[in-house]
Amino acid sequence: MGSESYYDVLSVPRNATETDIKKAYRNLAKKYHPDVCKEPGSEEKFKSINEAYTVLSDESKRRQYDQLGHENYVNASKGSYGGGSGGSGFSADFSGFGDIFDSFFGGGRRSAPRQGDDLLMRIQINLEDAVFGAQKEIDVMHTEQCPDCEGTGSSTKKTITCQKCGGSGQIRQVKNSLFGQMMTTSPCPNCGGHGKIPESICRKCNGTGRTKIRRNVTVHVPPGIESGMRLRMEGYGEAGDYGASNGDLYIEVRVIPNPRFDREDDNLVTQCEITPAQAALGCDVLVETLDKKTVSLKVPAGISYGTHLRIPGEGVRRRGNFGNLLIRVVIVTPKRLSAAERELYEQLLAEEGNASKMEETKDPKSSSGSDVLRGEKKKKRSFFK
Ligand SMILES: [Zn+2]
Ligand SMILES: [Zn+2]
Repeated sequence: MGSESYYDVLSVPRNATETDIKKAYRNLAKKYHPDVCKEPGSEEKFKSINEAYTVLSDESKRRQYDQLGHENYVNASKGSYGGGSGGSGFSADFSGFGDIFDSFFGGGRRSAPRQGDDLLMRIQINLEDAVFGAQKEIDVMHTEQCPDCEGTGSSTKKTITCQKCGGSGQIRQVKNSLFGQMMTTSPCPNCGGHGKIPESICRKCNGTGRTKIRRNVTVHVPPGIESGMRLRMEGYGEAGDYGASNGDLYIEVRVIPNPRFDREDDNLVTQCEITPAQAALGCDVLVETLDKKTVSLKVPAGISYGTHLRIPGEGVRRRGNFGNLLIRVVIVTPKRLSAAERELYEQLLAEEGNASKMEETKDPKSSSGSDVLRGEKKKKRSFFK
């Protein structure tokens, strides 16, 4: 399955339409179907074609795949069981794709074992985990193959052909009606449509072949994940029928808001407070990044309230791209002044009065208010390249 992107697997461009993808899939699936293609490696190829199609044909999965990138998406769907009791050697491979194929080719085997149900869980993570990625431990309650009978439902681990239906899994009945004889078929109640029953009922699972168990699962949260995204953990859902694959476990992520940082796409936004004098003269401030690094930031002289300064590369790191940390400058006017400060502000005010008088005599149309506005606009442009 390698690191080839799903688009490459299906040989479609990244902006391919749903129809393009379906068409490409049909052609490739026909070509590489194991019943048809005897080339070595064709089964692997067939599996990866199905895997790619499962993701790209589903709008929400595709969006998530595009956002996270191939590596992150694939890694996210491979969790692992931490500690826990018994049942090791759990494999989460891609084996549940028969259904898709059948639906395309009009198949639908009568007594095919049913795949396990999917499960959905929700987790909350903080912004740091969403930005940098994390390993999260969760407890999952799901069904697994009964360890005593290995999923067969039989203490002898053998199943026998159902006597009632002769192994077909279906019961045919002929009914007499007003219109003559009618043939009806229904799933065999004795074997549940499987055609096979346990040789001797397993006591632990009552012949179902499944047990409910709580598992500690490690979830790999990829960096750059956003609220509402779902991670899929292949095969971690409910156990399937004997011989069928498990369902998947979906983990919906909610990111808890951070009091100091907001996220805007791949940028993080925070703010710093400076005094009017610092705003007028410029200064150096220390800014703490999301991962608690202290970065010195130069605030240029004459900065306006609300201007965003930028520290490159300290935003969200996703698919090899680094977002920025934007710092919104907030100028805080002092509420209390010392005697010395008051004197200086009074001098400043007097000076400003003289300056604005001069301004008016020079150009009667421009008021000082519109000057500030123009200045701010110009500055903003120079900070955002
Ligand atoms: Zn039967
Ligand atoms: Zn059992």
